[in-house]
Amino acid sequence: MLYTIPDYYKQFSCTADECEDTCCAGWQIAIDRRSLIRYGRTAGKFRRQLHRGINWLKGTFRQSEDKRCAFLNEDNLCDMYTALGRDSLCRTCRLYPRHIEEFEDVREITLSVSCPEVARILLGKEEPVTFLNYERNGEEEYEEFDPFLYSKLVDGREVMIKILQDRTLDIELRVGLVLGIAHDMQVRIRKGEIFSCDEVFERYQKETARQFVNMRLRESRKNIKQRYAFARQMFRNLYRLELLREDWWIRLQETEHVLYETGYDKYDTIHHEFAKWIGEYMPQWKVQCEQLLVYFLYTYFCGAVYDGRAYAKVQMSVISVFLIYEMLVARWMKNEGMLDFEDVVEIVYRYSREVEHSDQNLEMMEKMMEEQLIPWFRAVFR
Ligand code: SF4
Repeated sequence: MLYTIPDYYKQFSCTADECEDTCCAGWQIAIDRRSLIRYGRTAGKFRRQLHRGINWLKGTFRQSEDKRCAFLNEDNLCDMYTALGRDSLCRTCRLYPRHIEEFEDVREITLSVSCPEVARILLGKEEPVTFLNYERNGEEEYEEFDPFLYSKLVDGREVMIKILQDRTLDIELRVGLVLGIAHDMQVRIRKGEIFSCDEVFERYQKETARQFVNMRLRESRKNIKQRYAFARQMFRNLYRLELLREDWWIRLQETEHVLYETGYDKYDTIHHEFAKWIGEYMPQWKVQCEQLLVYFLYTYFCGAVYDGRAYAKVQMSVISVFLIYEMLVARWMKNEGMLDFEDVVEIVYRYSREVEHSDQNLEMMEKMMEEQLIPWFRAVFR
């Protein structure tokens, strides 16, 4: 079995009681069957507390009114971990913030930016991310797995990441090229012509493709009304998702109020001012933007082997970073023209918690991306 991990994987270490937003509160933790059976058989002093802390019917940990896990104590430490050790944790708690995508004989492990510490590591990283491979014994049989499609998706992802990490190109051009590749791959997947994807990879790495995409981006940039309508529509999609934390809606409403309720002229002015500000005072955003795009693309793109939705996955990656950017603009306005690294970390991990930690939301996002396909040559970033 081949395992892949990002190069910053080993840098992560849970900050436990020092974490500003513990992952043991705010969402329901489902206990896997094996752990549930183990908990039922646990004897000793901790048994009583253990049994009371579990909702046996639902197979979840009980929560307090403010949605804290029943085992999370006042010092923000886990009582179960303290009493029974790390191995006692259920699969979700043991793995988090690791995210595993499973393919026939490959396991791709990433770290979710829904953990503030991971977001801090990723956003603070200047060098382009690389992915490391290692092998371990053990294989599983997967039915209905198309190894040819998977291998083309892996090739496509490699080319797209190479383009995203080419810092000699403007970020918007990189995004345009990547959307173009995914769009053309999608056409071939639909027609069952995946072997011709190699032509697509080659074409989008040529100067002529860059010139063409740049020309289309310039045209698209001029239409302010369309840009505003597009941004508003993408943002409003977030209201259609399952709500995981109550205060998320308040944040959405704040952003909506600041950015979209005063019309397209004002929206455009705010964005111009912000783009100038961020270019001068937070130039590292360009690198952070790249790291986030690579993160989303790497995590989700090859999942298209199961549902064929390659373009929707790339669009979701791009739109996610775009929406994070929109929320940064609104936060900058709220802070009266100021923003710092911790603001970026917070917006990124909160977005990720709401969108990435609900299968329903991920599915919904992809469906909405399919319904509202953005033309690949549309200017998304400034
Ligand atoms: S969110 Fe991350 S740093 Fe915080 S407690 Fe959970 S794993 Fe640890």
